Amino acid sequence: MSERVRFTSELLERRPCADEAGQERRVKSRYSGAWICALEALTPVCIQSAFAKLTDKDKAFLPGSSLRGMVRNVAEVLGAGCAEFHEGRPEPPEILATPCTEEAACLVCRVFGFVHGDYSWAGEVRFHDTLSAAVPWVKFGLSRAGFGGGGDGEEGWRVFPHRLPKLPEGRIRCAATGSKFQFRVDYLNLDAEEYGLVKFALTLQHGEIDLCHKLGYQKAQGLGSVLIRTPNDKSAPIGPDIERYLATRSFAEFQGYRRYR
Ligand SMILES: [Zn+2]
Repeated sequence: MSERVRFTSELLERRPCADEAGQERRVKSRYSGAWICALEALTPVCIQSAFAKLTDKDKAFLPGSSLRGMVRNVAEVLGAGCAEFHEGRPEPPEILATPCTEEAACLVCRVFGFVHGDYSWAGEVRFHDTLSAAVPWVKFGLSRAGFGGGGDGEEGWRVFPHRLPKLPEGRIRCAATGSKFQFRVDYLNLDAEEYGLVKFALTLQHGEIDLCHKLGYQKAQGLGSVLIRTPNDKSAPIGPDIERYLATRSFAEFQGYRRYR
């Protein structure tokens, strides 16, 4: 059964979408969609802000902001981004140190967002928190040893190589090796180059290439090596635009640090 309510007799107000703040529209010729991602810990993982108050009985989740930062960092290392979030020494070259603006923003800032003065750009990807997952917990002690080699004082991005941790037992709560999480990344209106770069920086898989990420606390000591997969992925494959990034010396170095088998 249904009833009727009369149509309004008021004048319908219309105005251009382009004038709306925060409007979202899908442009047909661009890439929009979502990746459902599976994350697996190759070494124990700790996100201090999320894990500090948990007990052995609690489930764990990984914050979307941490996942986003991890993928953004890879995109920067690949040479697609400015050094907006580069901290400390060595200073990046001027072309990377110059901040992005509304008029001139690098690929990474366009895709992941940036703030410049009063201007704030939200970006074109959204990383959700992982679903809560029951994980086996392990606990480690803080270690300042083991930085060895660390790249301090040398030129370039600081990258944490994959390695197995050698840490004493302690109080830092970690999701144990083998822990699995699921999360979602939405992307909107990416062009072909942006799409390929984000998809590669997220999965670190392309052709023969198969690498791991580093996430969270005590990365230098071996914590936080994680694999990201997109099972049942029906999205477009990474296009030829990625090859330029994969041919660089930066990528060759990065690859050497992130092989995991
Ligand atoms: Zn930038």
